[in-house]
Amino acid sequence: MNFLEERIIKDGIVKEGNILKVDSFLNHQMDIGLFNEMGAEFARRFDGLPINKILTIEASGIGIACIVAEHFGNVPVVFAKKSQSVNLDGEMYMADVASFTHKNTNHVIVSKKFLDSSDHVLLIDDFLANGCALQGLISICDEAGATVEGIGIAVEKGFQPGGEKIRSMGYRLESLAIVESMDAKTGNIIFREQ
Ligand code: 5GP
Repeated sequence: MNFLEERIIKDGIVKEGNILKVDSFLNHQMDIGLFNEMGAEFARRFDGLPINKILTIEASGIGIACIVAEHFGNVPVVFAKKSQSVNLDGEMYMADVASFTHKNTNHVIVSKKFLDSSDHVLLIDDFLANGCALQGLISICDEAGATVEGIGIAVEKGFQPGGEKIRSMGYRLESLAIVESMDAKTGNIIFREQ
């Protein structure tokens, strides 16, 4: 088991509805030492790629992305913002993202000032479930003409379709922990061998 899998076993809580709660160390209270280990591991896995920017989505991707950026030479971090209004003035890239946890759809926007065809992007997020958040970020990169060099995820729920969908699109996706199955009644979590 790697460091993140061990932490999930120690502090993660399996909820009904296929939700893994990791708010004591990942997406509410944040363990910065752990984020640093994650950053070092992503830097090892994506070594040699010309990454000059990290793109994530608010809110829970931001903290991780900022620490990961330090392991890629302090590249800038851009986060897609959830917006109520549809911006039609042409200054923003926009995508619709269905939220797995909130069961609604958000417009997410990135200013054209901060992403363009010269960018080589690493996408970062805390969770991968159905892949909607990543598909939104990928479509924003496509619109900008930016190159998606890789995708780094903390926790992939391997029993949901997002991982397969994104890998079959040809992207290099690295998840630090892949949950193969989990049981809300027993609290049992099984990880995929990597
Ligand atoms: P997707 O778009 O891949 O369906 O879901 C990814 C997003 O939903 C992540 O950004 C994350 O915030 C949230 N999410 C999905 N599954 C879980 C989960 O089991 N636990 C938590 N805490 N967040 C999740």
